[in-house]
Amino acid sequence: MVRSRSVTEMGLIVCKTCNEIIDSVDTEKVTVYYGICKKEECRQGEAKKGEFDCE
Ligand SMILES: [Zn+2]
Repeated sequence: MVRSRSVTEMGLIVCKTCNEIIDSVDTEKVTVYYGICKKEECRQGEAKKGEFDCE
């Protein structure tokens, strides 16, 4: 068996907070989707976007 596909193109789902790859999906072209991973800090960071508390 010879694979005709030389390159496997896929879409990546990347956490927009920590840039970690959450998941990958098969797509017709290379695409990057942005989401939020399961980390507490990322979920909270998304909820409090743009807010920085100084102590
Ligand atoms: Zn994250």
